Amino acid sequence: MIRDPESFTILLDTISRFVRDTLIPREPEVVDTDEIPGDILAQMRAMGLFGLTIPEEYGGLGFTTEEEVLASMALCYASPVFRSRIGTNTGIGSQGIVIDGSPEQKQKYLPRLAAGEITGSFALTEPAAGSDAGSLRTTARRDGDHYILSGSKRYITNAPEANVFTVMARTNLQSKDARGVSAFIVDRDSPGLSVGPYDVKMGQRGSHTADVIFDNVKVPAANLIGGQEGMGFKTAMKVLDKARLNIAAVCVGVAERLLDEALNYAKQRQQFGKPIAEFQLIQAMLADSKAEVYAGRSMVLEAARKKDSGPNITLEASCAKLFCAEMVGRVADRAVQIHGGAGYMQVSAVERLYRDVRLFRLYEGTSQIQQLVIAKHILR
Ligand SMILES: Cc1cc2nc3c(=O)[nH]c(=O)nc-3n(C[C@H](O)[C@H](O)[C@H](O)COP(=O)(O)OP(=O)(O)OC[C@H]3O[C@@H](n4cnc5c(N)ncnc54)[C@H](O)[C@@H]3O)c2cc1C
Repeated sequence: MIRDPESFTILLDTISRFVRDTLIPREPEVVDTDEIPGDILAQMRAMGLFGLTIPEEYGGLGFTTEEEVLASMALCYASPVFRSRIGTNTGIGSQGIVIDGSPEQKQKYLPRLAAGEITGSFALTEPAAGSDAGSLRTTARRDGDHYILSGSKRYITNAPEANVFTVMARTNLQSKDARGVSAFIVDRDSPGLSVGPYDVKMGQRGSHTADVIFDNVKVPAANLIGGQEGMGFKTAMKVLDKARLNIAAVCVGVAERLLDEALNYAKQRQQFGKPIAEFQLIQAMLADSKAEVYAGRSMVLEAARKKDSGPNITLEASCAKLFCAEMVGRVADRAVQIHGGAGYMQVSAVERLYRDVRLFRLYEGTSQIQQLVIAKHILR
């Protein structure tokens, strides 16, 4: 649902101009420094990008799902690391509070997350609990009006920058599955909480992940999300439903960029006395990519409109995440192929994006986990 088509078109145009004039020219700098420059962060704050999905009453733009996916597609025509920096505030690092938080929790955290004054992160994965996240081992022991958290989390996006974490921890110490898990809001400066060094990754330089360690961290009971123990895994899954659809939109945005890079190269690169775009084998790769990008875009928009009209979209979000994450991998591979040797060189955008997009088949549920979710739904 698009609430006000006229002003939304203006906003999308503003994002596209920002992408073209500011973000794309600075991509090499982000790769070289492994940081997003401060002036770009300031512009993203001023444009309201950190608060796209946070309700207007808490200072955000209150985007509907359709508006959110369209904005993500537009933003991710530039390197996906720019979206990754705002993505925990607009997605997994805020939505637990938006969906299940108490009015006090919302009031305390959402306005600053929306303004980009603070960064939120989502800490579910652990060294021994990845796809089987319900088996997580971080414990939260009740002690008067506090909980004491102990354990460690792995590969947490924006952990080095984060001021506040949504942490899933086991409150029922007898349980071994998802039913014993609760979600907490944990402030970065809590004594006993530490963040490891940046992980050295295959791609997405400029976006950081790290371990987060909880060594008897005292968290007020008031920071339990939903006010009830044992609801944390449900909160995490609601957050991930929305996040998976958004990752599918991210994949569409990057795929559109990759296709344009391939098209432009094919038109200007000459071999055998003519542009390689005139060879039908090159045209086949371009055409397959176009058809797949269009299919991905259509899927994401259909699922987003369904979400805005009310129904649960777990199935559709998994279908879109699975298809789009695999699709952008194929589009990236063809873009490198069309560039020939130039596509293997680090100066080319397609080489970098090829590595960047590999992540989308892995996080927020691997492609295999999406297949299991889809199969479970259709076999019911
Ligand atoms: C860059 C990056 C950023 C991340 N950011 C975050 C974050 O912000 N917060 C967070 O909590 N986590 C984050 N993660 C963690 C991510 O969600 C996990 O890596 C992912 O869920 C997979 O878990 P795993 O790495 O332990 O792989 P594993 O679960 O060990 O999987 C290994 C392989 O086995 C397959 N597999 C597992 N179970 C099954 C099954 N039942 N059937 C078939 N195949 C199966 C998987 O598909 C995969 O191919 C991030 C990861 C990366 C790489």
